[in-house]
Amino acid sequence: MRKNCPDCGVGLFEFHAPCCDVERCPICGGQMLSCNCHLMVLGYDPDNLPEDIYEGGLDDLQTEKASMLIDKEGRIPWNGKWPGEEECEMYGLYSYFDQKDPKADGKNYGHIPCGKDHPEAQHDLNRLYKEYVWDKSKKKMVKPDSKKADAIGDKEGGK
Ligand SMILES: [Zn+2]
Ligand SMILES: [Zn+2]
Repeated sequence: MRKNCPDCGVGLFEFHAPCCDVERCPICGGQMLSCNCHLMVLGYDPDNLPEDIYEGGLDDLQTEKASMLIDKEGRIPWNGKWPGEEECEMYGLYSYFDQKDPKADGKNYGHIPCGKDHPEAQHDLNRLYKEYVWDKSKKKMVKPDSKKADAIGDKEGGK
């Protein structure tokens, strides 16, 4: 557990400084700096941006508006762990890096899933983001099935 954010330096449960590398986006669960949610909250399609925005980015007013809309989703403070690590621990997602020459044996090269007790076990963020989906209300990655079940539950509750 780190006491301060490794990028912007805020303390535990404080909100990250603007443009922090570590801040997690409350809308998609990805890295705030690299996701497209600030465009989508303004109604833009990131794959089909108007030319001026594609080239020049958002102006100050739009940036401010986007950041307000994202604030509404509930910013995620620094909680002492790199985003995703907590879920890897919850779901037991670990892997170790196999150093074998890829040309020698492609099959066993790379990140190999393993148990938590493996001496070189690391949080398997790749698997987390591939196999799990972001739950906006829980602010966590969840198993796709449990999200579907929740959605059905919500619908029935709303009747
Ligand atoms: Zn930070
Ligand atoms: Zn996002």
